[in-house]
Parts: sequence; structure tokens; C-alpha cells
Amino acid sequence: MLIDQCALDAVKGFMDPEEGAALYAAALSASRRGPCLEIGSYCGKSAVYIGTACRENHAILFSIDHHRGSEEQQPGQAYCDPDLVDAAGGGINTFDHFRKTLRAFSLEDTVVPLVCSSVVAARAWATALAMVFIDGGHAFETVWNDYNAWAGHVMGGGLLVMHDVFERPEDGGLSPFEVYEYALASGLFEETQRIKSLRVMQRKCCGAPPPPRKYAY
Ligand code: MG
Repeated sequence: MLIDQCALDAVKGFMDPEEGAALYAAALSASRRGPCLEIGSYCGKSAVYIGTACRENHAILFSIDHHRGSEEQQPGQAYCDPDLVDAAGGGINTFDHFRKTLRAFSLEDTVVPLVCSSVVAARAWATALAMVFIDGGHAFETVWNDYNAWAGHVMGGGLLVMHDVFERPEDGGLSPFEVYEYALASGLFEETQRIKSLRVMQRKCCGAPPPPRKYAY
């Protein structure tokens, strides 16, 4: 893997190195077939893993994030990082850190930042994707919307990868797990790999995904 792990350790983020190595391997395989897309750029740690793999195949990674941080990362909240607070009073801003990461790892010609919500980016999307990585907000509605906006764009044989899939409530929030279970139950995807909280699924067939299942909340 052509990544300076020491330099990457210095990038803010929540990606375990073992999960990152699996993410890189999945992207290296997938990006031979087309572009990849991730939801949840933050400061660029996962973009380095996926983007470096894409660069090896002359492929592209689209990386979506509004760069305003999630609810628990806002000023005054439990997971607020003071380094990310916008000096102009605009709350959290991770975009500058993200751009620095892309530059430091020579990924500016590989990674295309999309600074908006994933649902907005999906409105006019029409490009089949070899891999979609869902690692955005963890509220159920957010994960659910990310899945429904993007699962249908994964090409047949392509990969859907999810992060922070915890099966026990004591390990973390269950929303990614619930959506991951739905993806498998849909019949569109089958699991091919699990590394810690990372789940790799492969799309079995072409065609549109089924309509969203109604949840009570
Ligand atoms: Mg994550």
C-alpha cells in the first residue's frame, strides 16, 4: 500500500488502520471498473485510503461532505475538536483540513470534493459507481437517506461499504447496522468481508433498488 502511515496517523479522523487497509484493498479492486464515491469526508483520512487506490488505477473518488461537522461535533458538544471551529463564527469547518490532506497526499488530481449534503449531490447523479462508501452522519435518518440516495448507483458487481456497523448497542449507535441489515435483506447485496466495524458488500444484480421500507421513527 503506497501510503505513508505515519503521516496518515497525523490526519484527524476515526478510521482504524486495519479497517483502512481493507478499505484501500476494496477500492483498489473496485476502481479498476469505474469511479468511487464516499459520503463523509471529514478531514480526509478515508479519502487517502480510497483515493490512493483510485490513483493507482487512474480512477476518480468523489468525496461528499457539507464540512460543517455532525451534531455531536458542534461547539459545546461532547466531540467538538477546537481545531475545527471556524474562527469567523461559522461553527465547524473541516473543508480546509480536507484540502490540506488531499494536497499532502498528492490526491488533488484524483479526489473531487462535493461540498453539500449527500442527498443534494444525488439529485442529478447519473454515473454508475464501482464503489460507494457510507461513513457520514450516524442518525438513522441520515444513514437511511445516504443508503437510499446512493445504493442504486452501485454498478452490478460493484461494492457498497459501510463504516461503524456495530451489532451491540454497547459498542456504538445501531443505525448503520440497521441499514446494513436492510441492504442485505433487499437481495441486492451480499456481504463479502467484515473487518471490525467495516462491512463490504457486493451488488449482485443490475436494476433499481426497491422503494424504502417504512420505519416507525
Ligand atoms: Mg466512521
